[in-house]
Amino acid sequence: MTDSHRPLLPRAVPVLRVAPGTLQVGGVDGDPGLRVGPLPDDGAQALAVLLRGLDGDRPVGAVLAEAVAAGLDRAVVSDVLDGLRACGQLLDVSSADLLAAAHTPAARARTEVELPAALRTGSAGTWRRRRVAAVVVDGATRVGVPLAAMLAASGVGRVHVRDRGTVGAADTVVGGLSAADEGRPRTLAAADAVRRAAPEVDLRPLPPGTVPDLLVLTRPWAAVDPLLGHLHTARVPHLVATVRGEVGVVGPLVVPGRTGCLRCAEATRTDAAPGWPALATQLREPPTARTGPPAGPVTGSTGLCAATAVTALTQALAHLDGTAAPLALDAALELRSPDLLPHRRAWPPHPACACRTAGPR
Ligand SMILES: [Zn+2]
Repeated sequence: MTDSHRPLLPRAVPVLRVAPGTLQVGGVDGDPGLRVGPLPDDGAQALAVLLRGLDGDRPVGAVLAEAVAAGLDRAVVSDVLDGLRACGQLLDVSSADLLAAAHTPAARARTEVELPAALRTGSAGTWRRRRVAAVVVDGATRVGVPLAAMLAASGVGRVHVRDRGTVGAADTVVGGLSAADEGRPRTLAAADAVRRAAPEVDLRPLPPGTVPDLLVLTRPWAAVDPLLGHLHTARVPHLVATVRGEVGVVGPLVVPGRTGCLRCAEATRTDAAPGWPALATQLREPPTARTGPPAGPVTGSTGLCAATAVTALTQALAHLDGTAAPLALDAALELRSPDLLPHRRAWPPHPACACRTAGPR
């Protein structure tokens, strides 16, 4: 760990006194923790104050100098920091993360809540990567708007929800569009919902020709829309996140050149059921076009939409953070009532599809 890293002990990690002169940091609720002591009583008190003050703003060297000034042994404090880091309770904020952090008091308070989870995913600079990321959510749906709001609240710097038309009464959902939005343009109402969750977010659409870090497809049967074939050649990473009937569907997450594509999944479906393309054509059409199955944007109970949005959030952040392979690569996570737990359904690359050789590696 270099001196440019700044130790952060999240506020949620308790610093407890277990005996006179002995502290326990973390170690409740099954987490690993660290016991320190016995120290002289005033030393334990000084150490507790020092640890509680690790806010990610000061480099390690400054923290150790502060410890010495408070009468603590430099080597002991250094060992404590190492021990807390080893058990996962102490996080290190890199210079890049610090520069990307918000500066107004309110924004800092919100960041403080989100930062530990982002840094816990692994590599330095995760927070900075989120702050500079741009996500486009296609569809101000009962999944799309809560997802956009959660992405922005989780630190993603630019989140744009695109849609057409006006809000209907059934679009109202917790964390998304509200009853007061009925009749308003969907894009403006969605932007307000995102701003409520994250006032600092950049809501502007991306300039023409700019590739977002992720495009989220939230319409029920967007995956079978042939007009989306250009996403692969335009090298746009895209994630399906929707509700179809009573099933929440998150995935596949398509990373052009690295994974299978949406056409792979359709080819696999067609192998299993040759009549699938004819059904898919009807599913992607608006319900007014024929008397076939409805495919409107309003679907899914509140619980199902919320669980789907949260599952999509985890996959989107895993992709943006770049710290772990998202489960939705070459697969979909499906959620059904009553447990709403995601179950993985594989959608491997189809041997007849040229997508993996067509894009960049
Ligand atoms: Zn493919």
